[in-house]
This record gives sequence, C-alpha cells and structure tokens, in this order.
Amino acid sequence: MLLITSRSTFAQTKDSLIVAAIMKEANENSQLEKLGHELLDVIGPRLVGSPQMQQAHDWAVAKYKSWDITARNEKWGEWRGWERGVSHIDMVSPRVKSLEGMQLAWCPSTAGKTITAETIIIPDLKDSIAFQQWLPNVKGKFVMISMNQPTGRPDYNWEEFGTKESFEKMKKERTAQTDAWRNRISKTGLTGRTLPPALEKAGAAGVIMSNWSNGFGVNKIFGAYTTKIPTVDISLEDYGLVYRLTESDHKPKLSVRTDSKEMGVVPTFNTIAEIKGTEKPDEYVMLSAHFDSWDGASGATDNGTGTLVMMEAMRILKKIYPNPKRTILVGHWGSEEQGLNGSRAFVEDHPEIVKNLQVLFNQDNGTGRVTNLSGQGYLHAYDYLTRWLSKVPASIRTPIETRFPGSPGGGGSDFASFVAAGAPGFSLSSISWLYGSYTWHTNRDTYDKIVFDDVRNNAILAAILIYMASEDPARTSTEKSVLPANPRTGEPGRWPAKTAPTRKGGLN
Ligand SMILES: [Zn+2]
Repeated sequence: MLLITSRSTFAQTKDSLIVAAIMKEANENSQLEKLGHELLDVIGPRLVGSPQMQQAHDWAVAKYKSWDITARNEKWGEWRGWERGVSHIDMVSPRVKSLEGMQLAWCPSTAGKTITAETIIIPDLKDSIAFQQWLPNVKGKFVMISMNQPTGRPDYNWEEFGTKESFEKMKKERTAQTDAWRNRISKTGLTGRTLPPALEKAGAAGVIMSNWSNGFGVNKIFGAYTTKIPTVDISLEDYGLVYRLTESDHKPKLSVRTDSKEMGVVPTFNTIAEIKGTEKPDEYVMLSAHFDSWDGASGATDNGTGTLVMMEAMRILKKIYPNPKRTILVGHWGSEEQGLNGSRAFVEDHPEIVKNLQVLFNQDNGTGRVTNLSGQGYLHAYDYLTRWLSKVPASIRTPIETRFPGSPGGGGSDFASFVAAGAPGFSLSSISWLYGSYTWHTNRDTYDKIVFDDVRNNAILAAILIYMASEDPARTSTEKSVLPANPRTGEPGRWPAKTAPTRKGGLN
C-alpha cells in the first residue's frame, strides 16, 4: 500500500515537473514565429507535386536534424509536377484596370504570350442542344462561367448594418439568383468540371471565374480543368465589374498571361520524425498534421498552423522528455487535400505501427486554440483521454468540450485514415476564427492570420497529451462502441471503411 502510494506520488510529482518544463519552454523559447516565417513566407504554398512541397519536406528534415531528432522523407507515390508562375490579368478596354486574380493550380501557361480577347458570359439557354448550337460563339473569347454575386458584403456585415427587411430581401433574391444560375449551368448538360474542357475544345481563349468565399476580399483557389487555355479566378469586385460591362455591351477586353511550368512526374513524400522509446520502443504515440496545401496563398492556417503545432511539440518533447517510454512519431502528410493520400499510404505501408499505436493526435482546422475533442466512437476513449487531459493546465483544458464516445470521423483530415483502420486517431479541433470563409483554401491564407498565442496553446496541449500517452502504464483500448442506427434508413451504424490512397495523381 505504502509502496503504491509513494509510486503514484512520485509519478504525480514527475508529471507536474514535466508539464511545468513544457510550459516554460513553449512560452519562453517559442520557435513558432521563426518556423512560420521560414515555412510560409520563404517556402510558401505546398501544392502536391510542386517544387515548394519538396522544399518543405527537405526543410522539415533539416529542422528536425538541427534539434537532434531523427527524420526522413518517405516516398508513397507520384504526382504531376507543376510550378506556379506569375499571373497577369488586366482589363484593357473600355478602360485600363489591373484585376486581382490568379491562375488556378495546374493551369496551363500561355507560353510566354499575353492573350487579349473579349469576354462572353454563359447564356441562359433552353437545353444542351441549344448550348451546343451557341458554343461556337466562345471562339477567341474569355468565357465567364461564375454567377455575378449581388453583394460583396458578407452576411455578418448586412446583419450588423442593414435593416432586417433589406437583409431578408437580399438573401431571398440571392437564393433565387443562385438557383437560377445553377439551373443555367445544368441546362448546358455539363458540370463545373466538364464545362471548362468543352469551352477549351470550342476554341475559347480562356476561362474566367470567381469562387467567392463569403467574406471581404476572399476567394477559394482550387485546380483548373483546362489543359491548353488558362483558367483564372478573379476577385468578386473585379468579376462583377467585367460581368456588368459585358452585360451592358461595353465589350470589355482582358489581357491574360500565365507563366506556370510543367515538371513531368515527380515523387511525393511524407516527412516522418521520431524520438525512440526506451521501455516500449515498438509502441507508438503520434503527432499528425498534413503538410501540403492549396496554393492560392501560403497555406498558413491550412495547414501551416497544424504543422507548426506538431513541430514545436516535437522540439519541446525532445528537450524536456528525451527518453520517452514509447516511441514518439510525427507524420507530416503529403496530399491530404486530394484525399488524405499521404496518411492513407502510411496506414497501408506501416501495419506494424498502426497495430501498436497508443494514440495519434491530428490538428487541421485553423489557427484557433483547441476547443473540441471527440472520442471518435471508441468505447473507452473517455477513460484515457480524460486521464491525460487532467494533467493539462486548466486554462488550456477547461475550454475543451469533449464528446464520448463520439462517432468515428469518415474524412475531413488525416486522423480519419487511422480511425478507418480501427486505430486510436483523434482530432484536436480548433475554434473557428472564421476559418471556413476567410482562410480555408483561400487567397488570404497567409502568415498574418496566425494567432500565435492560440498556436502556442495547442503546442503545449499536444506535447502534454503525448507525454501522458507515452507514460501511461496501460495500452489504450480501441474497442468500438455500437454506433447509432441511421435515422433515415434504420440501418445499423457502420464504421468508416478503409480507403486506398491515390498513389499516382494529377496525370491524365
Ligand atoms: Zn487541411
């Protein structure tokens, strides 16, 4: 009895000393700003298959080595290699204005030339036959394929300053307009994916779109579906301007130059770093965050901040807890954005790690401090997650709402690759900071959006949870709870299925 008491007192004292040391290192010697600058400003966005993605992997390995942590790049597949170049988009008639916009990812280059052409809007036609008859009109023109948004003010701005009546009226009209536009596109017999190649085939000079993200100055920037002509996204303001001038028959002309480079087929990687366990080296506690991004900006909050959290946690752990009981791993995944490809490949390639995984913590929804944690459907997650959380300082722990057993995430980010394999993967879920509209996949996902106090909070949380998981005398249980029946069909709830990664992507 006495022995047990003194042992647990010893453990508690050790825990509080380690926690205090983690806090001190995180607060007094933070590397977050420096890491953020090097990754987001110097290297920049990390589109799968781009040279910047490769630079980021090499940078991370070098960074870990400088902290005396073993790290490697693990090849898991191949992708179309492509490098973004300059995009110049100007209106040259009826007056001159440089437009805010850029080529989409994988957009073809204009081969060193500037293309000048008039604009044309997809018309509202009866059906796909009428559309095919109209299609020759796009020859030599820039085709505008997005709806002209009726307002560039986000809803929260209307709510604050508009009358209730005008806000309601705007929303009603916008909904009707959006439905009508969707109908207009669907009557062409094509989709957002098949329309651009059809325009290209019909001789269009380029595709102009605007994927507004419901906030001031924000657009979402994804990939192009054209293979010869440029596809560019322009801001809501500039798109509206050109659209109205086109409608009022002022025959605006645009000049577009895109300078991207094709780089053939390139290998794709995950960066894995490791602090070897001393007592149970074949059991693993793991940090996780995807490393790739879309490339409309720097990928600062998707997922630069998750990356910084995990790198900083690793650095702190190596310094404060260099001889862990279990092996500490971190996975910086490639190509999450195209379907969790890096982490799914890791799960396939390392069954021995997945089988012996004590826990994995992933973070991937922005810069905010963690406020949600779900048990992902594991029956006993409550037991160990609560026990580990109890050692986290109250200021970090108290705002975290837990849900047990919760339900297993089928996607969204890389923890799901592990959950699908029945392994204990969890998501450290952040408070929003308007992530969905302002930074997620947008042209404004930049360094200045990082809230470093929140990121530091998360690095401390991740480091303490990993320490506790590593020290826990018990292995975690992965017994699954009985999932509730589907309320629509009455069918029993099913655990998400394991999905194979795309190992060769972007090539057609
Ligand atoms: Zn992400």
